[in-house]
Amino acid sequence: MKFSLVADTLGYMESTTKRLELTQHLVDLFKKTPPEIIPKVVYLLQGKLRPDHEGVEVGVAEKIAVRALSKSTGIPVTKIEREYKKVGDFGQATATILEQKMQTTFLKEDITVERVYDTLFKIAELKGNRSQDMKMKYISSLLNDSSPIEGRFIAKIITANLRLGIADYTILDALSIAFTGSKENRPLLEHAYNVCSDLGKVSESVSKEGIESLKHFQVSVFSPVRPMLAERVKSPQEAREKMGNQFAAEYKLDGERVQIHIEKDRVVLYSRSLENITSYYPDIVEKITKSIKSSRIILEAEAVAINEDTGEFLPFQELMHRRRKYNIAKAVQEYPITVNFFDVMFIDGKSCLDMTYSERRRILESVVVEDAFARIMPMTIVRTDDEVEDFLENAINSGCEGLMLKQLDSPYRAGARASNWLKLKREYRNELGDSLDLVVIGAFYGRGRRTGRYGALLLSAYDEDSDSYPSVCKVGTGFTDESLDQFYQILSDKIVVKKDPRVDSGLEADVWFEPEVVIEIVASEITLSPIHKVAQDKIRKGSGLALRFPKFTGKIRFEKTPENATSVNEIITMYNNQKKVIQSEKQF
Ligand code: AMP
Repeated sequence: MKFSLVADTLGYMESTTKRLELTQHLVDLFKKTPPEIIPKVVYLLQGKLRPDHEGVEVGVAEKIAVRALSKSTGIPVTKIEREYKKVGDFGQATATILEQKMQTTFLKEDITVERVYDTLFKIAELKGNRSQDMKMKYISSLLNDSSPIEGRFIAKIITANLRLGIADYTILDALSIAFTGSKENRPLLEHAYNVCSDLGKVSESVSKEGIESLKHFQVSVFSPVRPMLAERVKSPQEAREKMGNQFAAEYKLDGERVQIHIEKDRVVLYSRSLENITSYYPDIVEKITKSIKSSRIILEAEAVAINEDTGEFLPFQELMHRRRKYNIAKAVQEYPITVNFFDVMFIDGKSCLDMTYSERRRILESVVVEDAFARIMPMTIVRTDDEVEDFLENAINSGCEGLMLKQLDSPYRAGARASNWLKLKREYRNELGDSLDLVVIGAFYGRGRRTGRYGALLLSAYDEDSDSYPSVCKVGTGFTDESLDQFYQILSDKIVVKKDPRVDSGLEADVWFEPEVVIEIVASEITLSPIHKVAQDKIRKGSGLALRFPKFTGKIRFEKTPENATSVNEIITMYNNQKKVIQSEKQF
């Protein structure tokens, strides 16, 4: 299949911001794609070669890409660099350079999707000293046969700059329409995706074998399962309204969620966003098999930093010291952890997802042998508000964030935020209640002491219904000098020339970012806003919702993807709850 079909689709998609149109372009492309190539097309559309958890990264330094372009066109490096500087986008610069070259030569052959994909895969696998030359050779040979638009997207993919932001859910919609005739079948595709977390695999199955094949998707070791998420509640009463008179209460520890896959001696760890994080936790890999009485199992746990002398739980930030490439052994010693198991997803060849919470907990208690390192999450069955309060008190005193409340007869709902799991935090009961996890979509340059860095950030929530990022506030307080430097550095990688099509903002930022970085914010109130776009027209025509007096808490939520950020529906619920509180206060 010609790569130009994919490049043209990406080109159309770049020029529209409407989700329906984006989906339609994908449907048209999928219908033209032979089933055996479908997975490759699906990965390439997202600038990937394999699902994220496999860690196959094509990322080539721009310097090498520039040299490769020079080699394939005969145009000097300095001229290419000048063009790049002028347009500020390497993909666009590549297209312009290839156009100049086309005026003097003819294209030799059509490049195919297979050729592009296979070449990028070879590049991703190259390692070691001499790899730079080989990478350059592969890229220049591809660009040599590329048209300007093909070259533009190849350049973007190899430098990890394809920022169309085509979300998983848009691709699932398009696959459903293209191969089953309607969007109605999306839940089946979604189920398959939730258990294997591999869009390529799902797309191959539905395009080759049809909708029925999706029912056979099963949990398997070393394929991460998309995690179940919790809704928030503000009080034990609210929890009881949602869950009935008897449910489980577990400690909610403030660490990193880790999905642990074990088969014999092999241990692989996945983060909440399903990245492979095995290398950050060599201590889990080394010790865990001794604590688990099964040789083929998938478990979920919260890894939490502790003070070994006092046994006290330490905040999540401490774990971030392990996020480094070198000297991990030293970090492991300096920042010791405990692993606190709270769920089991698979054991000895059988999925546990359809079992009830009680059954899964029973299995968990029978397979985990507790010691100072491996523990089972403290849990108690609660029947009254007082029992919840007491357990909450215990949890807070032990250094927890609060409680997780879980329905006893509920299955594990992979990939869903469901009301069978609720989170109850102490602060929920004052002011706004909970903190919010918001996505950084833009920034404003700083003045005075903040010159040369960002002075304020523009933040958004996540709108699950339209897969978009509506703005909710501008935040300029809560930053230290250190965090301002850190933001400047982290965000410099995320800058985009044009606002991401999914970003919907009422303010014009100085700089726009790819919506990726999630940070924690507290605020005093949610108010109607003529500027910000969360819940636009939903509460009042012509208004959205905004946060009043937002403040950065100091937590960058590295473990959260932007889709895990606080959703628009959650903000609407918080707004309505806040109104209830104000009304009931007025009655007194
Ligand atoms: P939040 O990040 O506030 O939405 O809370 C959900 C997170 O709490 C999960 O992703 C886990 O990392 C963490 N967590 C801590 N304790 C538990 C528990 N007992 N059960 C489930 N998740 C937990």
